[in-house]
Amino acid sequence: MAIDEKLEPVMAEVMRRNPGETEFHQATREVLESLGVVLARHPDYAQDALLERICEPERQIIFRVPWVDDDGCVQINRGFRVEFNSALGPYKGGLRFHPSVSLGIVKFLGFEQTFKNALTGMPIGGGKGGSDFNPRGRSEGEIMRFCQSLMTELYRHIGEYTDVPAGDIGVGQREIGFMFGQYKRITNRYESGVLTGKGLRWGGSRVRREATGYGTTYFVQSMLATKGDSLEGKRVVVSGSGNVAVYTMEKVIQFGGKVVACSDSNGIVVDEDGIDLDLVKEIKEVRRERISTYKKLRKGNATYIEDGRIWTVPCDIAMPSATQNELNGADAKALIGNGCIAVGEGANMPTTPEAVRLFQKAGVLFAPGKASNAGGVATSALEMQQNASRDSWTFEQTEARLATIMAAIHDRCAETADDYGMPGNYVAGANIAGFIRVSEAMRALGVI
Ligand code: NAP
Repeated sequence: MAIDEKLEPVMAEVMRRNPGETEFHQATREVLESLGVVLARHPDYAQDALLERICEPERQIIFRVPWVDDDGCVQINRGFRVEFNSALGPYKGGLRFHPSVSLGIVKFLGFEQTFKNALTGMPIGGGKGGSDFNPRGRSEGEIMRFCQSLMTELYRHIGEYTDVPAGDIGVGQREIGFMFGQYKRITNRYESGVLTGKGLRWGGSRVRREATGYGTTYFVQSMLATKGDSLEGKRVVVSGSGNVAVYTMEKVIQFGGKVVACSDSNGIVVDEDGIDLDLVKEIKEVRRERISTYKKLRKGNATYIEDGRIWTVPCDIAMPSATQNELNGADAKALIGNGCIAVGEGANMPTTPEAVRLFQKAGVLFAPGKASNAGGVATSALEMQQNASRDSWTFEQTEARLATIMAAIHDRCAETADDYGMPGNYVAGANIAGFIRVSEAMRALGVI
């Protein structure tokens, strides 16, 4: 889809103001491409520079993070928090620790998060943050000192009613614990609602760990149901082997699917007997080793391919759950050629625009991450609810809420796409429905 000519100046201004931030340009373009039909029906949405404002973060914070490594050397990283949009509630979105983190990456993630959070129907704005810190190979002590140093600056910008970070790539419960501890120490307040993704014994929510992967799988199941189909008996390929990937695999298996491949940034494992999820959890969550260990420990026919392309493994359903732009046009052609019928994005923007177009042209059901992976942030909002009421829900109760939220997001996207004459186009449905909710709140709050 091309950008409507009325929206071209908005895109041009984003490019001028954010030079070199290609991922942010990509994410903005994708949303603006969906909005031409909205402006044709509601020209008033273009008033008061609403579109220009929605593309400009409310606040961008960049800071130095000094810390001392195990050899006594001082290391310097850069910390970021982009507080993108708070029209619907406090900024909400994860922190990512990965060497590729830059302002442009954080901005694209914060922009996506704004629409995703709106789609959940919950009172949360959008934000994102992180650091170019590389946790790979760092000791527990180094990770702790880094997290403490990051929080020593970040604490002044966040709060239960202001900005509530969570985890993302490289940030799990351990890191959230170190950051929460430092926040508590500096502020002298046990403010559980300031971070989500906490451990169960110190204010966390059941199902938060599983939520993004489970939610993505619920969304895929709902898409398949529109065609009278389901995950039962399907061959599924899941990229990554981190938080989102592991719990995507778990729910796929619970729904009767067979996961035949997963990966990390070094290589892929293919296991025709079905991936042994307990083994993946042992390798990634306990030993914190590379996925290549799978081949060494698994008896049977598993193979490990260093630098392999996971999307060449034949499957019915592809669930990219590692990182942005990990599935390109050539991968999409391979998947379509092998008979893939559905793609569910667990990661944020893992599919390139060319690949999305190819899937849509081929009639492959395509779930965009800002809708399908919203279960994580939705359960973070449930964690905030439990913190505010000093309550703790059961696993079943919390998962039931997650399932209801995911069904509602699916239906909201599908109905919006129908309403705008693009049935089955979940990308357009998600962008339009998210945009309308954020825009209406922004208009009500005046020019701020
Ligand atoms: P994670 O636990 O750190 O796992 C990330 C996985 O992706 C790892 O297997 C990692 O492999 C792989 N990966 C990361 N960067 C890569 C790269 N540049 N190339 C190839 N593989 C790479 O992170 P996560 O929380 O699962 O997040 C995965 C994706 O889901 C991200 O796009 C994130 O923004 C998105 N997401 C997460 C949540 C959440 O609740 N956690 C919610 C919504 C969306 P290595 O170990 O080798 O690096």
